[in-house]
Amino acid sequence: MMNQKRFPNGKTKVFNVTYDDGVLQDVRFVALLNKYGLKGTFNLNSGLMESEFEWTHESGRVIKRLSIEKAVPLYQGHEIACHTLTHPYMHDLSEQEILHELQADKANLEKLFGREVKGFAVPFDYYSERIENCVRESGFSYARISQESRSFAPQTDYFNWKATVFHTDPELEQLSRQFIETDQELAIFQIVGHSYDLDVEELWDRIENIFRMIAAHKEILPMTTIEIVEHLRSLSGDNQQ
Ligand SMILES: [Zn+2]
Repeated sequence: MMNQKRFPNGKTKVFNVTYDDGVLQDVRFVALLNKYGLKGTFNLNSGLMESEFEWTHESGRVIKRLSIEKAVPLYQGHEIACHTLTHPYMHDLSEQEILHELQADKANLEKLFGREVKGFAVPFDYYSERIENCVRESGFSYARISQESRSFAPQTDYFNWKATVFHTDPELEQLSRQFIETDQELAIFQIVGHSYDLDVEELWDRIENIFRMIAAHKEILPMTTIEIVEHLRSLSGDNQQ
């Protein structure tokens, strides 16, 4: 088709992973992304990075946050996005507290990583119009929510952005194969998760198999979430930030 919309470099498909919380398992996870030339978006809580904050997962495993010293070099080449300052249940907060959680995290991450931070991923799954308005007011370009799209179609509501599928989903392989086979215009496949799940559920081989399969298809371009959002905005002539 003459007028088919494309991603950069004439590509028809893009792949991204968006992972939350900035945990120690991201060291292994980022190494895998780098091995296959893929790109991630890492959603961090800057208020929990000072002292390798830790908590006990229901599986009994202790999950540790990455320190600032480890995180800054690790995520080179990948997107850093906000996930609030301290990972609160946002529906319990006043508007002023929500704005602080968003704006302090953004400012901290921009300072730590020395770059602009425009993405936001909602902690837990509490989201509302009130929170969305705070996200918009705080200068973000998109908000990734906790629901899956289970679709490869570009998201059109950037402040209710859904990734395709959670990485522990039993249909992950099936969706990956469907993505490789689809010829739909501007197909996006975006996997969401926390890398500690890969330890807890012993899914490292499974995710590596997916990465190997994606990387073998040269029509698939690895992009970060913000790169995808900004490209979609430019295609639709919407340059509003
Ligand atoms: Zn989280």
